[in-house]
Amino acid sequence: MNSRFLFVLIAPLWACCAFAQQKTVDPCVDFYQYACGNWIAKNPLPADRSRWGRFTELSNHNEKVLLDIVQGAAVVREQRSALDQKTGDAFAACMDTNTINQRGIAPIKAELDRIRSMENLSDLVPELARLQRRGVGLLFNFGARADAKDSNRTIAGLAQGGLSLPDREYYLKTDAKSVEIRERFVAHMTRMFQLAGESVESARSGARLVLEVETVLARASMDRVSMRDPNKTYHILTRSQLAELAPSFAWDQYFEATGAPAFETLNVSQPDYIKQIAADLANTSIDSWRAYFGYHLLGQSAPALPEAFENEAFDFWSRYLSGTKEQRPRSARCVAAVDRQVGDLLGQKYIELTFGADAKAQITQLVDALEKAMAEDIRSLPWMTEETKKAALAKLKAITNNVGSPRKWRDYGKLTIARDDFFGNATRTAQWAYMQQLEKIGKPTDKTEWGMTTPTVNAFYSPQNNSINFPAGILQTPFFDPRRDMALNYGGVGAVIGHEMTHGFDDQGRKFDGDGNLRDWWTATDGAEFDKRAACIANEYSGFTAVDDVKLNGRLTLGENTADNGGLRIALMALQDTLQGKAEKMDGFTPEQRLFLGFAQIWCENTAPQEVRARAMTDPHSPGRYRVNGTVQNMPEFQKAFSCQAGQPMVSQNACRVW
Ligand SMILES: [Zn+2]
Repeated sequence: MNSRFLFVLIAPLWACCAFAQQKTVDPCVDFYQYACGNWIAKNPLPADRSRWGRFTELSNHNEKVLLDIVQGAAVVREQRSALDQKTGDAFAACMDTNTINQRGIAPIKAELDRIRSMENLSDLVPELARLQRRGVGLLFNFGARADAKDSNRTIAGLAQGGLSLPDREYYLKTDAKSVEIRERFVAHMTRMFQLAGESVESARSGARLVLEVETVLARASMDRVSMRDPNKTYHILTRSQLAELAPSFAWDQYFEATGAPAFETLNVSQPDYIKQIAADLANTSIDSWRAYFGYHLLGQSAPALPEAFENEAFDFWSRYLSGTKEQRPRSARCVAAVDRQVGDLLGQKYIELTFGADAKAQITQLVDALEKAMAEDIRSLPWMTEETKKAALAKLKAITNNVGSPRKWRDYGKLTIARDDFFGNATRTAQWAYMQQLEKIGKPTDKTEWGMTTPTVNAFYSPQNNSINFPAGILQTPFFDPRRDMALNYGGVGAVIGHEMTHGFDDQGRKFDGDGNLRDWWTATDGAEFDKRAACIANEYSGFTAVDDVKLNGRLTLGENTADNGGLRIALMALQDTLQGKAEKMDGFTPEQRLFLGFAQIWCENTAPQEVRARAMTDPHSPGRYRVNGTVQNMPEFQKAFSCQAGQPMVSQNACRVW
């Protein structure tokens, strides 16, 4: 018997009903502190994390299950299944640091030489395509996507890309912190070039050139808030219109080099960006392009290169920018690598071991209960006309629910995973995934596809597929436990289901219809009423401080905050529907109080200040504290449950409500 059968079921992380609330805090003054204060005090940030919360706690638990699977698969050497071969060898190759260190930079030597030998723009185009095919992000992203207005069709798409730092603002802001980050970025790139064998002078000047190139790209880039509007990123062009827009770039040569199938039209998400950078291409020296391509290759390859590269990348990206003190153990990084490379194989094994038919049936019941509550909520909205309500209900009814895993697993039959070649595995996987994507151009959209692997602790709504999707990884404590008090389940996974459903009707999702097409199905007055209510949410969250003098961006986080508010309300409606007036107390709490506690306690977290700062600029989600307090302060139902009085902080004077 090999060790993968020695799988041990790990005890639930959170025993039933032990709320452990912080009794010294008044729930009406700071509900997040009341619900999470004890957890926060007892769970300091681990040295190898920049953020530690209930989500990461659960993903740590899942990681142990996955480690058991891959270690088990790695010891099997004979008569093994394709699944064991790929997952086991992918893990073993990643763990083999001797081989990785011995090879040094040999795996990228040829590619670096090719970059150094580029002499003019016509050398640049094929090299750009080559590098993008192996997953190196440069200049722009080319790929396949569903046509936003005809979602059954998959078309080619071009979008801005190619920045290293997390957002365009990192290049453009002039405050002291932003200047410091750019200096540190240049120093990091300098060391990476030196590790690749360049002299200190050449490394330093190369690093400066990369920053210059990326600053030009940043200036041309659309900001994150604008990108949330699907109408602003929908521009169907013919190939000749693209050539007119950006004449200095050899598009035909480029598309040919990517290996994409033939196509006539494509979506260009940011035409201004494409126009601008194509014009800049010609005015930029070939030295700059060599440096830019070279650094991106090094940066993307760092996790699969010798330790010195990995450590340098960790030092800048994780230690300096995110506040993580130590790297995760090698085994944890290698589990993550296997999940990235062949996630659907790992997922098949994971779900077989962890997610039974019972759990699936219970979650499906919960989804039905939430859908019923959302329909009731839509019907009772005072601000929406019957006409729009009818369309909204039709969209709700058309939502596809996927629970546990995708309906079809990816087929890795043509992908080679070798036990002695971690670098090659990473490159082949990236190339394979890229080609899988490009081959979809011109084909009908596969609406069953998932963008997350099954063990992931997360969930998602897809506007183009009009589907809500819950990987098995999240369907556990503290979100869900079939044996515990249902009020906690409604506050946990119930609010998550409600959140994903509400995404279909947030400022972004509402622009798509039940078939996943970008189409305005709202009357003009209802649209204006929606915008007014959404603006209330945006203003509320813009008032919250992330860290120091950094505020949240209420427009960037609008969709998530709308989904939190709507999701919790419909979870409460669904719970009340099942209670039918019965209100038994447990541990001194009413069912409504337990639901709010269950909700708040999925958001407990400790986060490094550097990470909070970075997320305030890039993350569409608010920090845990505001996901809780920002939501409950809008809810009279919460205030009633905890007998809060007007004037207390958890009773907003200007309560916002969209759904
Ligand atoms: Zn969300």
